[in-house]
Amino acid sequence: MDHQTAHKLEPEGDAPRRPVRELTAGEAVYLVEAFKGLGVTFRHFIKNLFNRRELPTVSYPEEKRDYGERFRGRHVLNLREDGTTKCVACMMCATICPARCIEIVAEESPTPAIEKRPKSFVIDGLRCVMCGFCVDACPCDAIYMTGEYDFAEYAREDFLWDLTHLTRRPSLADAPRGYRPRIE
Ligand code: SF4
Ligand code: SF4
Repeated sequence: MDHQTAHKLEPEGDAPRRPVRELTAGEAVYLVEAFKGLGVTFRHFIKNLFNRRELPTVSYPEEKRDYGERFRGRHVLNLREDGTTKCVACMMCATICPARCIEIVAEESPTPAIEKRPKSFVIDGLRCVMCGFCVDACPCDAIYMTGEYDFAEYAREDFLWDLTHLTRRPSLADAPRGYRPRIE
């Protein structure tokens, strides 16, 4: 047994190692195996080319999947007809949130019938687990989740969704309404 073979068979620590099988001459040049692999690729290419409707994948972002109407995507804070937010800063959503990612600062509302409103309302999108508990907990129909799921950003701070973002971001015009307690 030469030095190299002896090294291959030596157990490392206490774990016994399986002996390494020598490659045959055909396997050593890899050509046959490479052509076999290409054959599999080509077979799938032809099959998928003529059977596109059966493809398990979509060409994202050109093509997007339709998700259910209760999909839990990025949040929206609903507005009243006068443009003020329905949120009354009751903190129910922040209290129920398992990720502790909702930060609300309340202030007195100028409307006598409403006690408080949010001075600031921030959801940390990087910590949110999209569970929908905040939507369930809200007593004022103020927070829903939309069908938005493609919200890549370049900076971490862009994932802090503030009051303006949650009420008036441009994408809301086309965003399908997702998870909410009642479906009208
Ligand atoms: S969806 Fe869940 S994790 Fe995200 S803000 Fe709401 S309660 Fe918190
Ligand atoms: S539970 Fe609803 S009303 Fe209360 S703070 Fe959250 S969003 Fe606002």
